[in-house]
Amino acid sequence: MPLLSWQERAGLLRPDGRILIDGQRCASSTGQTFDKRSPVDGRLLGAVARAQAGDVDRAVASARAAFDDGRWSRQPPAARKKLLQKFAEGLLAATDELALLETLDMGKPIRFSRSVDVPAAARCIAWYAEAIDKVYDEIAPTGPAALALITREPMGVVGAIVPWNYPMIMAAWKLGPALAAGNSVVLKPSEKSPYTAMRMAEIALEAGLPPGVFNVVPGFGHEAGEALALHPDVDAIGFTGSTRVGRRTLAYAGQSNLKRVYNELGGKSAFLVFPDFDDLDRAAETAAGSMYFNQGESCNAPSRLLVHEAIADDFVARVARHAPAYAPADPLDESTVMGAVVDEGQLRTVMGYIASGQEEGARCMAGGRQVRADSGGYYVEPTVFDQVRNDMRIAREEIFGPVLSVIRFRDEAQAIALANDSAYGLQASVWSSHIDRAHRVARALRAGTVHVNQYDEDDITVPFGGYKQSGNGRDKSLHAFDKYTELKTTWLRI
Ligand code: NAD
Repeated sequence: MPLLSWQERAGLLRPDGRILIDGQRCASSTGQTFDKRSPVDGRLLGAVARAQAGDVDRAVASARAAFDDGRWSRQPPAARKKLLQKFAEGLLAATDELALLETLDMGKPIRFSRSVDVPAAARCIAWYAEAIDKVYDEIAPTGPAALALITREPMGVVGAIVPWNYPMIMAAWKLGPALAAGNSVVLKPSEKSPYTAMRMAEIALEAGLPPGVFNVVPGFGHEAGEALALHPDVDAIGFTGSTRVGRRTLAYAGQSNLKRVYNELGGKSAFLVFPDFDDLDRAAETAAGSMYFNQGESCNAPSRLLVHEAIADDFVARVARHAPAYAPADPLDESTVMGAVVDEGQLRTVMGYIASGQEEGARCMAGGRQVRADSGGYYVEPTVFDQVRNDMRIAREEIFGPVLSVIRFRDEAQAIALANDSAYGLQASVWSSHIDRAHRVARALRAGTVHVNQYDEDDITVPFGGYKQSGNGRDKSLHAFDKYTELKTTWLRI
């Protein structure tokens, strides 16, 4: 029997959009649903439960009960490790199914859902599983009459609210450290990409995670998201999303129980190219590849390309030559490298920014158009704007689409000033063949991650997060345990 094509498999898919609480699938208590369509071709994927405050209450109560009875929180770390490892293996075993769901849900190419998203989510869970039985507590260097133990304890119930651009990876970045540390989790996926989160929870249950430890409430931000962030029995919110909503999550905590809020927010990352760099074509190829990966829907996309004026014409021409390699095509074809933007609203937002760039006097050097409209999906050409000023909207605001803005600089000081003149500070990249300059500029940049002469290295072992309005927390690495644990000091008289 020949294998079915991805298109044929997509036609057979009937994803389950129900809530998952206490190990059970269920409808929303009000019976409400919303239709989820695919940005690939507009097809209806199914009706998804529209969780309301009452559903969030039930999910939090279930998470609290699971936490309090110790079925997960008081297990030895080695026991949690074993089940989380099985969870990670289960994710990998379901690679094709999860990848197809992810692609249909949010439009990214199937080749990347399979080779990047599912493996990265599984590796994240496996890495925290592997780490948790190697974390030691401390004894403080106090006087001889007492011992002061400094121990870490799980916080309790963690609410995870995630965006649609990397649905599984963003969920895993919260789930890995929160679950390994012994917390229970209520996950609110984006209404634009809800399906893989619910399958992840089922796979966790199949691996043996006790019911109630990992619950999923699909629905809208202003309903399920707000109810979770306001909930008085939630101890911490791990939020990834826009800076606009990040302001709200902080306010909700202030209005309710002062829960911890860890915000991982937007970006407008600068990619600085100095004329002394000796491989400009590699730099141009990396700029285009990093910008257009995931349709430009990456928080850390290098959307501001800062180029020295002496090489700018040449460099922009090189980037514009690389851009068409990312022409959008059917995300279900394995050769496709750029898929659909997530929905019609996002398409309009991106096209609005392209129009704004043209109105403000930037020069469109590549792309600029909506394409493949007859597919029923939402596709935008990889776009390059030259002659952008840092005060234009396309330079200041996060577009979250395949639009690159080139800004010219005359010297190092101006390059640093332009890079730092942004509300955001998520990531940056410096391209120079001189170690002293590369190091000097990297130190001066106000960003959570700075790359030198590359952009794409990434690993679960390193922290990821932003300065300024890009957030206040760090996902990934052992530092993420800090977000989901309380420090306790216990004095013992001896
Ligand atoms: P968004 O802020 O619109 O939504 C994110 C999540 O918050 C969704 O689940 C949404 O339903 C929920 N939400 C919306 N309103 C809410 C409210 N009032 N209360 C509680 N929850 C609410 O963001 P998005 O459009 O889904 O994602 C794109 C954004 O995410 C971009 O700004 C991108 O840069 C950012 N992002 C950041 C990182 C990072 O690690 N820093 C990673 C990925 C994406």
